[in-house]
Amino acid sequence: MNDTTVTMNGWVQDIRNLGGISFVILRDRYGTVQITLPKKKIEPALFSGLTSLSRESVVSVTGDVKESGQTELGLEIIPSSFELYSPAAVPLPMGVIDKVNVEMDTRLNNRFMDLRKPEIRAVFELKSMMLELLSEAMKENGFSQVFTPKLVESGAEGGATLFRLDYFGRPAYLAQSPQLYKQMLMSTGLDRIYEVGPAFRAEHSNTVRHVTEFISFDGEMSWISSQNDVMNMIEKVIHHILKGLKDKGKEQLALLGKEINVPDIPYPVLTYSECLGMLSSAGMDLKEGDDLGTEGEKLIGDIMSEKGYDLYWISEYPECEKPFYIMEKEGTPYSFSFDLDYKGQEISSGGQREHRYERLVERIAKKGLDPESFTFYTDAFRYGMPPHGGWGIGIERFLVKMLDLPNVREAILFPRDLNRLSP
Ligand code: ATP
Repeated sequence: MNDTTVTMNGWVQDIRNLGGISFVILRDRYGTVQITLPKKKIEPALFSGLTSLSRESVVSVTGDVKESGQTELGLEIIPSSFELYSPAAVPLPMGVIDKVNVEMDTRLNNRFMDLRKPEIRAVFELKSMMLELLSEAMKENGFSQVFTPKLVESGAEGGATLFRLDYFGRPAYLAQSPQLYKQMLMSTGLDRIYEVGPAFRAEHSNTVRHVTEFISFDGEMSWISSQNDVMNMIEKVIHHILKGLKDKGKEQLALLGKEINVPDIPYPVLTYSECLGMLSSAGMDLKEGDDLGTEGEKLIGDIMSEKGYDLYWISEYPECEKPFYIMEKEGTPYSFSFDLDYKGQEISSGGQREHRYERLVERIAKKGLDPESFTFYTDAFRYGMPPHGGWGIGIERFLVKMLDLPNVREAILFPRDLNRLSP
């Protein structure tokens, strides 16, 4: 071996035979390199061995590096030996470099192959960076990371979207959100906590923004004076993530042909009532107390985008629309709640929580639920609970909106939905 001898491991992306010369394109996570085989200069067994490989086989190639004006890298490898680690069967279930539009279902059925495309992998590299940036921001702001159970006896908001399972002969559920546990922790002195973990929803909605398992980023903080403290915290975290990704994710963003816009903070706040007014002026009449709905959210997104805002808050939803743990805005039909919308879609909701025991129990009953079945939670409010508030953000919804991807499934390695439980 001399200085310019290298060994490259990877997948055979393509083979081109041009008579007197052949090329094998080898791919690894960093990109591709050209293996050049001038027929006359390469031992016949090596030549035929390398050029007869099937696409996507995994090999190790050793050879000399030569400068080349013909390749993107400015170099090529003239092979001296190779080892076949794993031949790829023929035909491939889908191509890696072919420029044909493959349906989402085919891609997801063959996700291992789909993920060999660098631009598909780039989304997951960005997702990983996003979670690092998120942890950085939480650490800077004094939050501790916690892990709450995903096997639970009862859900946060009733049964409609709970997955039921058999827990040694008694019913149990997969957690929809860490809501109740996060709040219980506020009574302990762990007064700023966050969790990044799976949330399960038995969603019957077959949409591009709903899946049955997603990664939820939840935070809860004590000693707040109003929900504004929570909103300010979310803004700081989101700003840190967007700014960080714009810088650290340059390579991946270039692969995707995307740019990240980093809006200034604070983001504008619209109250729910203001939204009704905006929608009415745009021809959509909703009644006080109605859900804004997907269409309403989208329309508000269009109006805000015209004004130059990608991210904005919708606050003070009607109390009747919100779960029991949200604090009512006394003397009004509204609540201390908010959603953060990103380009016309909700990516987060949160608010100030009801920390007063009696009122909390009243609210549980008012929502038609049995306070007795929530004592494991309400007990934590009986012996001293600070004022607090928090949020939940769907990591994948956030990422697909940031990258303008068409479907939340693009940001999930192996999505689970109404129809999909495999692979
Ligand atoms: P939507 O009304 O859009 O279905 P939601 O009101 O049920 O959402 P929350 O319970 O407030 O959502 O959950 C907080 C966040 O978790 C949402 O803003 C979203 O980012 C994410 N999320 C909720 N449900 C799903 C889902 N089925 N798939 C992907 N992400 C979700």
